Amino acid sequence: MDNKFKCPECGHPQYCPCDSCKVHFPAPEGVKYWEWQSNEESIACGNCGVIKHVDEWMDLSVEYYENIRARKLIEMESNDVEAKLSSVQVSDSSK
Ligand SMILES: [Zn+2]
Ligand SMILES: [Zn+2]
Repeated sequence: MDNKFKCPECGHPQYCPCDSCKVHFPAPEGVKYWEWQSNEESIACGNCGVIKHVDEWMDLSVEYYENIRARKLIEMESNDVEAKLSSVQVSDSSK
């Protein structure tokens, strides 16, 4: 599972710095890992330092994915329309 999501303040992609995530989801060059706070219940954005509760970040993550999913659905629908249009063109040219 890809767990990327973005900071609501600065838009910086967020990557978990724990050992297992670093192995499975290494941050691309130039992207900073988020920072766990000492209570391990809060995470600071690695870029702008905004601190939010873990639950809030997870909510953001869900929102982020819902947006992506929604965008993909829209893309799929518009592809559908294009496919229909091009199939109309194909049948027209076969006349
Ligand atoms: Zn992790
Ligand atoms: Zn940030």
